[in-house]
Amino acid sequence: MLRIAFVGWRGMVGSVLMGRMREEDDFKGFEATFFTTSNVGGKGPDVGLDIPPLRDAFDVGLLTSHDIIVTCQGGGYTKDVYPKVLETGWAGYWIDSASALRMDEESIIVLDPVNRDVIDRGLAAGVKKYVGGNCTVSLMLMGLSGLFATGRVEWISPMTYQSASGAGAKHMKELIAQMAELGVIAGPLLDHPATTAIAIDEAITDRLRQGDFPTENFLAPLAGSLIPWIDSAMESGQTREEWKGMVETNKILGTETPIPVDGLCVRVGAMRCHSQGLTIKLAGDIPLDEINGMIAEGNPWVELVPNDRESTLQRLTPAAVNGTLTVPVGRVHKMLMGPEYVAAFTVGDQLLWGAAEPIRRILKIIVEHLG
Ligand code: NAP
Repeated sequence: MLRIAFVGWRGMVGSVLMGRMREEDDFKGFEATFFTTSNVGGKGPDVGLDIPPLRDAFDVGLLTSHDIIVTCQGGGYTKDVYPKVLETGWAGYWIDSASALRMDEESIIVLDPVNRDVIDRGLAAGVKKYVGGNCTVSLMLMGLSGLFATGRVEWISPMTYQSASGAGAKHMKELIAQMAELGVIAGPLLDHPATTAIAIDEAITDRLRQGDFPTENFLAPLAGSLIPWIDSAMESGQTREEWKGMVETNKILGTETPIPVDGLCVRVGAMRCHSQGLTIKLAGDIPLDEINGMIAEGNPWVELVPNDRESTLQRLTPAAVNGTLTVPVGRVHKMLMGPEYVAAFTVGDQLLWGAAEPIRRILKIIVEHLG
């Protein structure tokens, strides 16, 4: 029977992965071993099966006795353990949610509703390294896969509105702590109907600027504000998050001539949905109803939202999409710059299609491939 090792199953991405695998009844047809970097001998996740105590995630001998290793542990772990695993001559499949191996020549970035052809070619060619993509890139491609498939996209400029979860669990909690702090200040003022909005704003701004406002993780207020910087600086003037847009999009799609993708990435006070305002330059003047049709038919999870206020407010917000696999695309219209310029807005849960779901699905694909 196939043996599969799971590392990093209790982190944010790992726990969403475990939840989705349970929901889809994926824990069958293989023997699962759960590993830990911090709690050897402890209890593993509830996957509806009897599982042995947790094993040591640094035990390379044990890891390499598995056919597939799935890790959502993080880039530090991958950089440390993956070379040691390879040194043993291990020829199994490594599936990873961290970015460390994404741009390796021999790795494939997985997003099967968009690049199943690339994945299938990789499996046939014996590629053994499959990595989840950057969440923003994956969500943009899920929303626009139908448009990309036509080969008519010349370039895209995504302006993002990224959630706290993309930065990690501590950041999510810090966002809520910031909101709570503002609630403490605003609560008594709101209780008095005579208080003006300007007076509340002054009190809130004052609190945002105080040195003890909780910003240990974000390094700046996010609640009541935003942060137009994600990840480290690149020489190009982009941030690393912005740089990933073009390189990962083209690697996922397997393009021969790279499609330019560039814009600004901004952190906003959403919990786990990334949103993106897209400027799309098409090769030619495609009628709007055809564009809508191409987007709608891209994949079973994309949902075209009519460009009206009611539909937008009901279906095209992080509050509506959070915790679901639906990737709505709306606000689609031609722009004043010319008939080949199209605006669109998309929202997606960055822990599902942005992280855990492509990993769940590639594991299933590889299990089927080996079966
Ligand atoms: P995370 O929540 O920090 O979890 C990583 C590991 O931290 C866990 O597997 C766990 O390992 C350990 N840990 C320590 N204290 C913990 C606690 N109180 N609760 C849960 N786990 C704890 O990391 P993550 O956000 O899932 O990200 C994992 C990888 O996926 C990273 O490389 C990240 O870049 C990548 N990724 C993240 C996202 C995202 O949105 N967060 C999206 C795409 C890709 P032990 O059980 O061994 O202690």
